[in-house]
Amino acid sequence: MQLCSIASFHPQEEWLPLCPSGQFYGYQAFYAPGKMEIFRALLEGEIAEPSDGLLKAVYACTVCGACYEKCKQITSVELGAPDLFEAMRHELASKGWILDTHKNIAEKIKETRNAYGEKYEYKARSSDGDILYYIGCTARYRVPEIADAMLEIFDKLGIKYQVMDEEWCCGSVLFRTGQVEAAKELVAHNVEEIKKSRAKTVVFTCPGCMKTFEKNYPDMGVELVHSTQFLLRLGDINVKKLDMEAAYHDPCHLGRDLGIYEEPRLVLKEVVSVKEMKREREQAWCCGSGGGVKSAFDDFALWSATERLKEAKEAGAEVLVSACPFCKRNLKEAAEKERMEVYDVVELVNRCLEG
Ligand code: SF4
Repeated sequence: MQLCSIASFHPQEEWLPLCPSGQFYGYQAFYAPGKMEIFRALLEGEIAEPSDGLLKAVYACTVCGACYEKCKQITSVELGAPDLFEAMRHELASKGWILDTHKNIAEKIKETRNAYGEKYEYKARSSDGDILYYIGCTARYRVPEIADAMLEIFDKLGIKYQVMDEEWCCGSVLFRTGQVEAAKELVAHNVEEIKKSRAKTVVFTCPGCMKTFEKNYPDMGVELVHSTQFLLRLGDINVKKLDMEAAYHDPCHLGRDLGIYEEPRLVLKEVVSVKEMKREREQAWCCGSGGGVKSAFDDFALWSATERLKEAKEAGAEVLVSACPFCKRNLKEAAEKERMEVYDVVELVNRCLEG
């Protein structure tokens, strides 16, 4: 067994699965070393035409980065696995070897400027101020309760903010699925709009959008902060603590990609009692929806989320809380069978804030 597939690598501790893709599909090709071998073969011209199985091994990976963190922890080698997997997808996509589902998302974005192909606009109030809230497609169109909560927090605290009149998809799904060229127009538009806004700080409730701005956008000279960092910075705010035991789920893009582990916990501790799950922080189990997996392999995405919900129950939590619209959407869908409530940190903070 390769060590990048297990959490808590220590002889006296429990060995728990860490790579959702390998664990679900059960073949070597779905674990990180298998994918590395596929990439090597691709670069050395050994793959004339990819089989459906090969494409599945490449694209049924949430690019969660757990394998990278584990490899770094055990061997001190930083292979940059998710970046390599994205580069492999780029290489494949540039030859036209891409899943139809992902190609369709690119077409929807081209047509509607959002990843879900929605034609209506999420209406948000906007005032002046040097804080800009970048909402993102998932909080606009699939879990608007997160965007609503963030906007209500601004209002309740008397914080002036802007939202973009014409917010376009950040391009995350395109970068993650290797369709880099298709994202260029989105980046240029959003950069232009943000410059026009004269905002000094951009607040994100979506770690996927924030990672994309950090990693794939040019430096705009603005500060990029996650909602939990923003809330923590406000210091003492008047909140009434809820009588609730909540497990905190680290979103992969927030934790392993952006290194934000403590802020969500510190904010959450102000409003509920926090229970830790066995796999947390760098060793967190992915919710299963990232990297284009939710759209193309929903059964796998929901299985991964169900595993996480079971872990939250084992930890003695009544509810599961994350800090990412993408995590919430997938966990909530899986939670319908598991009978557990799922929230975003900002929803609970908003609930506890005196209006
Ligand atoms: S990025 Fe995540 S899903 Fe993909 S191989 Fe690594 S651990 Fe497995």
